[in-house]
Amino acid sequence: MELNVKLNENFGRVAESYLFSDIAKKVKAYSAAHPEKKIIRLGIGDVTLPLAPAVISAMQKATAEMGEKETFRGYAPEYGYAFLREAIRRHYENFGVCLSDDEIYASDGAKCDCGNIVELFGDNEVLIPDPVYPVYLDSNVMSGRRVRLIETGPENGFLPSPDGLDGLDSKGYVIYLCSPNNPTGATFTAEGLKKWVDFARESGSLIIYDSAYEAFIFDDHPRSIFEIEGAKECAVEICSLSKSAGFTGTRCGWTVIPRGISSGGTYLYKMWERRQATKYNGIPYVVQRAAEAALSPEGEAQCRENVKYYLRNAKTIAAMLDEKGIFYTGGSSSPYVWMKCPGGMTSWEFFDFLLDRANVVGTPGAGFGRCGEGYFRLTGFGSAEATAEAVDRISKII
Ligand code: PLP
Repeated sequence: MELNVKLNENFGRVAESYLFSDIAKKVKAYSAAHPEKKIIRLGIGDVTLPLAPAVISAMQKATAEMGEKETFRGYAPEYGYAFLREAIRRHYENFGVCLSDDEIYASDGAKCDCGNIVELFGDNEVLIPDPVYPVYLDSNVMSGRRVRLIETGPENGFLPSPDGLDGLDSKGYVIYLCSPNNPTGATFTAEGLKKWVDFARESGSLIIYDSAYEAFIFDDHPRSIFEIEGAKECAVEICSLSKSAGFTGTRCGWTVIPRGISSGGTYLYKMWERRQATKYNGIPYVVQRAAEAALSPEGEAQCRENVKYYLRNAKTIAAMLDEKGIFYTGGSSSPYVWMKCPGGMTSWEFFDFLLDRANVVGTPGAGFGRCGEGYFRLTGFGSAEATAEAVDRISKII
């Protein structure tokens, strides 16, 4: 039936996302035509290793508690149980960031928080790097926000910088940053991030910092924006256990909103609390106990082994590109390797070339924004054996 209800017209402005369905269609057609070929997928953005033993035993224990009258739990607190907020606070202490438990809001993941936080803002200009994790752009377009894309490319290592942005005045912007980045794997140094913090403080802007891949950092790159002086005045941080602890199917993340951030006398954390209390029910108790275990010293050590496994795969890919002299970003501090397509191929030409000649599947960079054209994303989330074989096949044809 045709309704007389007005719909949100902004949805008509969101670009249809055909990327992963187009990839699936092409792979299906190729497999049907060549059933004898063994296809290797290096385009996976999901984890493949199982949950750590410490996480599993915490889940089992919590599940048993839910089956006893004395220890059964109903609705969870909207912002997370105290034990989880405390475990997240302690996690930040590992890299020298001091937070208070009540600045931490647990959730069922970074994607939801990235999308939901848009509700807190009015009609600001939103700055989003290109190429980009599509959720920032799409959720702002769905809400009718004015978006300005910040181009990145090989000249700045695919890391956006406020230097040289034209036409910006001193209005406050909402700025999205992600480091280590999806899709480029590019990771901010403290100096690079400090430029954004300084810019935000000078212009009265707010940075939304996505640190979903912080666990892939093993050197002195910042794992949190709050390692940068002044960030607590101008940044919120959104993080996740999806990639660090394999929680893509288990679901747990969090948002940190420093207490002092306000605009027009209204505190941002109060708006988030109001929003979450109204629209969100919190994460299941069993999952919160699992998350607590993933963040415990034992759990963190086990999870870091899985992260190292993915990193070794990414390094195997990067080493091949080094040997071939092909430009890339990522490959360290990230499961992603973002490579220039050889021979001037477009992203989709290289996709077809790799599928046809090496039977390897990756992700065309053009699917992440205009600046991704001519680039290609490979990931370390597969098995070590399959990655080594794929790399061997690719190195023979490029
Ligand atoms: N942020 C980035 C940059 C991501 O790449 C992803 C997932 O791929 C997410 C957030 C989503 O994380 P979650 O699984 O916690 O929703």
